[in-house]
Amino acid sequence: MSFKELKLIDPLLKAIHKEGYETPTPIQSQAIPVVLSGRDLLGCAQTGTGKSAAFILPILQQLNSLPNKEKAVKALVLAPTRELAIQINESIATYGQLLPLKHQVVYGGVNINTQISGLKKGIDILVATPGRLLDLVGQRVLTLRAVSHFVLDEADRMLDMGFIHDIKKVVALLPIKRQTLFFSATMPPEITKLANTLLKNPVRVEV
Ligand code: AMP
Repeated sequence: MSFKELKLIDPLLKAIHKEGYETPTPIQSQAIPVVLSGRDLLGCAQTGTGKSAAFILPILQQLNSLPNKEKAVKALVLAPTRELAIQINESIATYGQLLPLKHQVVYGGVNINTQISGLKKGIDILVATPGRLLDLVGQRVLTLRAVSHFVLDEADRMLDMGFIHDIKKVVALLPIKRQTLFFSATMPPEITKLANTLLKNPVRVEV
């Protein structure tokens, strides 16, 4: 299986090639077709398996083919920690370098005003930690009503860190009609329960 066989568009294939990736990892070859088809995904994968590209590449491809009328966030990625959020945003910059999509990362513990001025420019993809995201929505500098793609990354870690209520608040702000991608390294009963409330008829991928 090659990246080309996964039906990725040229600007993404070029960026992947530039990174020196030769073949998709197992999570990538399994998840990318599912995400491109528009189905929800339940991914059981650890960090280090190439899971970030497994959701970033097909989301970039889908957003690139959407008419960009509205200056509102279209893809939201929730991550448990600042470090992971920054890393995901950097991967979006790398894979999306040849596409005209705007992205930003927001997390707590730093000045909110700098993040607010960035958001005012209009962002297609937002990577966020839950608390800061809710602060920004509360301050009305951000709306989630145009989100068509929602990713919950490291769901098990989110729960361990006590983010369950924040996650539920965020999900309540999202359109019902959306594509949801849910990733967790482990699948204990609480995670399965949360996944069942967020996903519609998902494809399960395990690596
Ligand atoms: P992740 O699991 O998303 O944190 O990715 C782990 C590491 O694997 C990152 O440093 C990526 O740059 C790298 N990576 C992702 N996909 C591939 C691939 N298909 N071939 C080689 N390296 C990759």
